[in-house]
Parts: sequence; C-alpha cells; structure tokens
Amino acid sequence: MQSWIHVLEWRASAHRDRTAVRDDRGARLTYGELLDAVERRAGGWAALGIGDGDVVAVMARNSADFLVHALALMRAGAIPAFVNWRLAAPELARLCALLTPVAAVADPAFTGTVGKAAPGLRARVVIGTADGGWVPDAELDAPPPPRPAERLSATGVFGLMHTSGTTGRPKAIPLDNASLIRSLSGFAIEIGDQVPGSRHLQLMPLFHLAGWAQAMQCVLTAGELIVHGAFQPDAVVDAIATDRVEFFTAGPTLIDMLVAEVRGRAVRPDLSSLREIQYGSAPITPASLRAALDTLGCRFRQIYGNTECQSFISLLHPDDHVPDGPHLASAGNVTLGWEVRVTGPDGSDVPPGEPGELLIRGDSLTSGYWRDPDATAAAFTPDGWYRTGDVVRIDSGGYLFVVDRAKDMIISGGENVFPAEVEAALAEHPDVAEVAVIGVPDERWGEAVHAVVVPAPGAALSGPALIDWIRDRIAHFKCPRTIEFVDALPRNATGKVVKNDLRTARR
Ligand code: ATP
Repeated sequence: MQSWIHVLEWRASAHRDRTAVRDDRGARLTYGELLDAVERRAGGWAALGIGDGDVVAVMARNSADFLVHALALMRAGAIPAFVNWRLAAPELARLCALLTPVAAVADPAFTGTVGKAAPGLRARVVIGTADGGWVPDAELDAPPPPRPAERLSATGVFGLMHTSGTTGRPKAIPLDNASLIRSLSGFAIEIGDQVPGSRHLQLMPLFHLAGWAQAMQCVLTAGELIVHGAFQPDAVVDAIATDRVEFFTAGPTLIDMLVAEVRGRAVRPDLSSLREIQYGSAPITPASLRAALDTLGCRFRQIYGNTECQSFISLLHPDDHVPDGPHLASAGNVTLGWEVRVTGPDGSDVPPGEPGELLIRGDSLTSGYWRDPDATAAAFTPDGWYRTGDVVRIDSGGYLFVVDRAKDMIISGGENVFPAEVEAALAEHPDVAEVAVIGVPDERWGEAVHAVVVPAPGAALSGPALIDWIRDRIAHFKCPRTIEFVDALPRNATGKVVKNDLRTARR
C-alpha cells in the first residue's frame, strides 16, 4: 500500500457495501460509493486544470465531503493544504502567502475569507451551492484522470498541515504517504479490536494530524466513521448511545466536557458500547484523567506526538491507566521506529531520569518545513534529529513524562518552574474547573508565577485561599504569586490553551 488512495481501493474491493462514512449533514457513503465519489471529484478537479503538485487549500468543517475532497485532490495529483477554519483573517493571509495555493475548496461560511486571503486562485470550489464565482462541488463530476504515479508513491507528499502556532507563526509540514500508513498499521495491531464495521466517532478536526489520523485509521481498518461537524457534548453523549460508538479520539478539554455532561445528567446515558478513547494533543492533568476513568468506563490510551513526526512518539497503554498508579501522569513508552535523546541547555544528554528537551530521529520524521529553510535549520539538526521543544523526562522503566513545553517554562528568581506541574496541582482543587499558569514580568524575580483560573460552577473561590491551599502541595517558589479568575481560557481549534495570548495580554 503506497498511498491513501491505494488503502481506499483495497478497502473498497473487500468491503464495497459496508458503510465508510456518515455525517451530521445527512451524508452516508459505503466504501464503494466513497471510492466512486473520490474518483469522480478527482476527474472534476482535473477538468478545472488542477493536477500534479498543485497546492489546494481545504478549509471546511468536519464532514464526509471534507474526506471526499481531500482524497480526490490526492487522486488528481494535487496537494491538499489543510487549513484551520478558525484562523483570523491576518493569520490566514500569512499562511496563504506561505502555501501559495492555486485553488481552494471551502464550506460556504469560509469562501469570503479564503477569497480575500488568496485572491489569485485559478479554481474555487464551494461545498454546497454556487456562491459568488465559486463552483458548486456537485459540478466536479468526470471520469478520473490518469494515476499520478509519483504523488501516489510511498514517498509522495499527500498533504500539507500547519502547526497551530501556539508557540509562534504557523509552519507547514509536508506529509508523506508511507509514514502515516506505516505508523497507523502498527497502531491497529496495538489496539487489536478495530475490525471492519467498528464504529469510530470523528470529533477532532480533520485539518489537524490527530483528526486526520483517526479518520485514516478507520479507513485502514474498514471501520464506519461517524463525523460530527462541531463538538457539542450533549450530541456526542447521545451519539455514543444511539450509534453504539466504539472508538473516538479527543483532546483533554473535550474529555473534561464529556465528563461534565455525563455527570450532569439525571439519568446515566448508555455508554456500554465504548471500547477505547484515545486522547492527546495537549497535556492532561491526572485529576481529569481520574474523573474520565471513573465516569466514562472504557479503555483509555494516551498518544503523544507532533505534526513533524507524522504520527506519534509514545503511547500510554490502557493497562497503565490505574487511578493511583505510578504512570497516570506519563505519556507512556516510546513507540517502534524512534531514536530519542533528552538534552540539556548545552546540547549534551542529561543523566537518565532528568528533565531536558526531547530530540527524536526516525523514518517517519518529516524532512523539514514547507518553504521555510530558516525554521527547518532551527528545528532539525544536520544529522537528522528534530528538536521537539518539549521538556520531558524518561524514567528507568522507559516511561516518558512530558514536563512542559520549553517555551512555556517560567524562570522565577533563577528557579525553573514548569507551568504544567503547577496546573496539575491546582486542578486537584475541587473548585477549579480549568487552569493555565504563565510567567508575568516581575521586577524582583524576573518572572512571577501567575495562574488564570476558571472556577467550577457555583464555586466561591478566592485567590489568597487558593494560594494558601497550594502552598501545602508544591514548593513555594512554584506557587502562583497572583491568581486571576476568568470565565474561559483562550483555546485554539484543537483545544490547546493559547498561552501566547494569555502572556501578551498580561505584559
Ligand atoms: P505549534 O508547534 O505551532 O505551537 P502545535 O502545538 O499545535 O503548534 P502540534 O504538532 O499540533 O503543534 O502539537 C504538538 C505538541 O502538542 C507537542 O510538541 C506537545 O507539546 C503537545 N502534545 C501532544 N500530545 C501531547 C500529550 N499526550 N501530552 C502532552 N503534550 C502533548
């Protein structure tokens, strides 16, 4: 299997009449229909003059059509560039300047913003009905073009994905066919019970690697993908019960919201179909994880990775999800195919068990950022290592703990404070619903630890009382000097707290 198109053809040959994908817009396609739709749309793209190596921006919410267009662009030899639809106009303009798309496909809600961000497009396709010069996607209907051999080879780039930019300007990452197919094949073996017909609920955005990987994992195992266009906790809980959902992937925030939804219901919903929830993309606190284990009643598997590695670096096995066990705060064991190093500020390896920046090397690593040699040189070493920017420690049993992102580390009075550790401690307080810890400028200490807290509904919390409470639990230099209460934390489309926004607003 060299490409995602080969995977789809393989699944359609043996499972033609099995449902491949359905969504909350009412679409339902079998594997045979999905392959036919991909081929006809690919023919339509070719008729619009879009083909080998053309970058096409895809800006849409999760839907069956998203999947069809992304795969159709691959089949036509083009490179879909998956764009976060939540980007603000200036961010989108900067991203388009980097990607230089020649065409775009978008939901009607986004045609205006894409049109402005990328004015010179050769082809503009709207998912749905015609709209001010945008071709309705139903018109993309023609016999498929010849197979683009190089694009559909193992090393062919099947798409571009951009990191969310929580630590700076977005960077685009070329994704090759073989890396994700290889790692997801291994993942299917690891999971063991994802079989043809298994029902997977798609909640994570398809423009993000974690979301795309979940969808492709489903196709690889001939499962049924149930796609939700937006995350609504009540709809998700209802869907689990009525659609008998077995697998889904979610970020920590989504998991917190689901737990709150289930706990808030007068009658416990039927979650008995759930087999496994996979979670990752951002740190989860042990408090959240214990609540999820207690409430959702299925296996959990943590995934730690980044877009650059085109897959995942480590996995925390379901057996390690013991509420008071030693590994609940860990991101698990490094998976097959990765060499890892943990290094100090001078670049040399730290002693085993000590925290330092994680460097990774392996076949699935992307070769560098799209048209950004400076960013590539800064993050990738000449001998093939990628600096993840994450501070981790690996214990004597091989368990990897993500301590924090290096850029988020606070230096207060010469001491290093990792916000994630303070956040995990504060999250244990029953009146704390969400928390983000940042460094704010301080004349005396250089930086001071500042906590931004979302109180639990109905809680009457005061800053001084919370500071008193935390001082018994973590070293004094790590305790927040100030606490601020807010209604919500700024989060990006994948649910990560945008700490840059928090810091900028408090400078
Ligand atoms: P940018 O790099 O531009 O800030 P981003 O954070 O969205 O964007 P991604 O590649 O999407 O980049 O995310 C990778 C990062 O997410 C990792 O480096 C790590 O910091 C964090 N992350 C992913 N999974 C986990 C996990 N299981 N636990 C803790 N952190 C995680």
